[in-house]
Amino acid sequence: MSLRLSRSIVGAAEAEAVRRVIEEDGYLGMGNETRRFEEELAAWLGVEPWQVITANTGTAALTLAVDSLFAHSLVPHRAGALPKILVPSLTFVASFQAIVAAGCLPVACDVLPETGTIDLRDAEKRLDGDVVAIMPVHYASNPWHLDEVYDFARRKGLRVIEDAAHAFGCRHHGKKIGSFGDLVCFSFDGIKNITSGEGGCLVAFDRECAQRAADARLLSVEGDTRSRYAGTRTWTPDIKRLGWRFHLSNIMAAVGRVQLARLKPEFIPARRALAAQYAEALDGLPHLRLLQSDPEDFIVPHILPVRVLDGRKDAFKEALAARDIPTGVHYKPNHLHTFFAAPGALPLPVCERLFDELVTLPLHPGLSREDVATVCDAAREALA
Ligand SMILES: *Cc1c(COP(=O)(O)O)cnc(C)c1O
Repeated sequence: MSLRLSRSIVGAAEAEAVRRVIEEDGYLGMGNETRRFEEELAAWLGVEPWQVITANTGTAALTLAVDSLFAHSLVPHRAGALPKILVPSLTFVASFQAIVAAGCLPVACDVLPETGTIDLRDAEKRLDGDVVAIMPVHYASNPWHLDEVYDFARRKGLRVIEDAAHAFGCRHHGKKIGSFGDLVCFSFDGIKNITSGEGGCLVAFDRECAQRAADARLLSVEGDTRSRYAGTRTWTPDIKRLGWRFHLSNIMAAVGRVQLARLKPEFIPARRALAAQYAEALDGLPHLRLLQSDPEDFIVPHILPVRVLDGRKDAFKEALAARDIPTGVHYKPNHLHTFFAAPGALPLPVCERLFDELVTLPLHPGLSREDVATVCDAAREALA
């Protein structure tokens, strides 16, 4: 098979789990498997089951997280003004769309050139009275300076929504991402560190937000999660607010449960070993720079972006493509999209420079050491 940028690593165990749901449970929607997936995620993270709210995509989890901020007016905001959320521009468009979907305004922030993570000094310049939260993105699975983000938020009176879509399985200074904080969102889409086909979850650290999100994923039918896990429904609810069909089905949860069990023995060591091999082979090459990380952090890399300097990015990508090596772009900065452009906003020079430099190399646990050596040889030649 040709070398792929990323892929799902699934097989007989996932197929058997789906078979079990179809042939033994007989109910494909949200039920027992979803409940068990939430319990197992909670156990893995070391949090209580009520704190984990699965959703049918990571984007849905982010939308629920933003929406949950307004549970019981936990976050006051000015009538008539859209609440604003600080977010790095260098992220998947999902972060921005989720903010808009939940009725807020994304404020694009610049990033640090060494890591691609949010630049808090830049973020501070964009603060005004309508900003209610900050959404750091663990770019390339790097929770860089997350403690500083929480300090900043505490000082400025902001809530924190971590877009941890890349960072399932990572640790910041010894603590698992999702085991502490405010609101933490993961993605289980087809190529993330674990997949449920499509899916995601929110981890909440206060009961109001957790309850609001659990209801909002089921059209804001209050308490319907409990009913479904008991095999029934809430038949005659009174709906008090906006809600969505964002719940995770038994089929997807069954796949996710198998993947969660494979994370520690298979996926974590494989991803880390391949990334270490890349780092060793590429470090110090001319015109190329690796992203930095904190040695105190434990990173399970979802993607492998590198910076190709001195205007050589396009030639580099073409040289790899000529050898059938696919490369990716993570990401087009969101302030450059028509929908999110904010005329008059402060410039975002680092995001734009990184957009001219970043090239994502193939990374997934199905790659062999030989595959990575092939990519690194091609990279070395392309830069010579
Ligand atoms: C994948 C991803 C998401 C969204 O997750 P989906 O499950 O694809 O909806 C959000 N943010 C980032 C940074 C991502 O990479």
